[in-house]
Amino acid sequence: MRKCAKCSEKGVIYLPQHRLALCKTHYLEWFENRVEKTVKTFSMFSKKDDILVAVSGGKDSLGVWHALWALGYKVDGLYINLGIGEYSELSEKKAKAFADKIGRKLHVVSLKENIADIPTLKELQDRPACSICGTLKRYYMNLTAKKLGYSVIVTGHNLDDECAVLMGNVLSWNIEYLVRQYPVLEEGNGFVRKVKPLCLVSEKESAMYAFLSGIDFVEDECPYSVGASSINYKLLMSKIEEESPGTKLRFYLEFIRKVRPMLAIKKDLHLRPCQVCGEPTTSDVCSVCRLRMRLENSKAEMRRDF
Ligand code: SF4
Ligand code: ZN
Ligand code: ZN
Repeated sequence: MRKCAKCSEKGVIYLPQHRLALCKTHYLEWFENRVEKTVKTFSMFSKKDDILVAVSGGKDSLGVWHALWALGYKVDGLYINLGIGEYSELSEKKAKAFADKIGRKLHVVSLKENIADIPTLKELQDRPACSICGTLKRYYMNLTAKKLGYSVIVTGHNLDDECAVLMGNVLSWNIEYLVRQYPVLEEGNGFVRKVKPLCLVSEKESAMYAFLSGIDFVEDECPYSVGASSINYKLLMSKIEEESPGTKLRFYLEFIRKVRPMLAIKKDLHLRPCQVCGEPTTSDVCSVCRLRMRLENSKAEMRRDF
């Protein structure tokens, strides 16, 4: 390994796309500076905002929480327990231990207590677990942030996540989703502002930051992530990146800078409050309330059969 570009120490990481070798101290500093620059470039939030980080217990979400905390932002955490067996229990434990370590609050929302766990809902619906899970996470993140008075929700999506989504949307030319692919989703219509401060750091860089910061994160992936198409896209992008460092960053940033503005046709979503829970939706009753009704109907049917 080459020497650190900033001091005489031995480098612990080499960043090929930036042609930079750094020691532990300077890598942590580089990463936090990059996060801060991303926050400022996209005007995500300021030191006055009360920020809620959605944490899964993994390296990215605990890493972004740590970086923002180290940079002096007011950041608390939200853990949504999905009820996916041991994976969820261990993730909650690690998220709680991390919150205690940095002395910040961790709010916990249990899907089982609010509606039902993911395995139960997957059985009820003929939909992939990730699609149900995504809907519920978005719903409870927004609801909880509003209830507790947070003005911004942070998620731990990194450059690899964003590139995989971008690639999927490009392959199917999904213009509606492409327009929405931006590191900031503005507040309004009942939604709290949502931002992705890790969108310009790769998965490897994020993992290295979590590791070098001494964060105890969950290494296991969610059991439902196996076979997701995003994993294939990530592998493909990483192969290209290996051959040609900087491709991922270019692919994402050039889309944001050059292509997205050309697609940004204003589309009125006709959002209105859900007639049951009041959260924003495009239909009379939101998808979470419809899911809850379906669950109740199926329970009533089961009672009738016995
Ligand atoms: Fe939810 Fe799918 Fe992610 Fe598991 S892999 S946490 S089910 S979105
Ligand atoms: Zn150094
Ligand atoms: Zn509703």
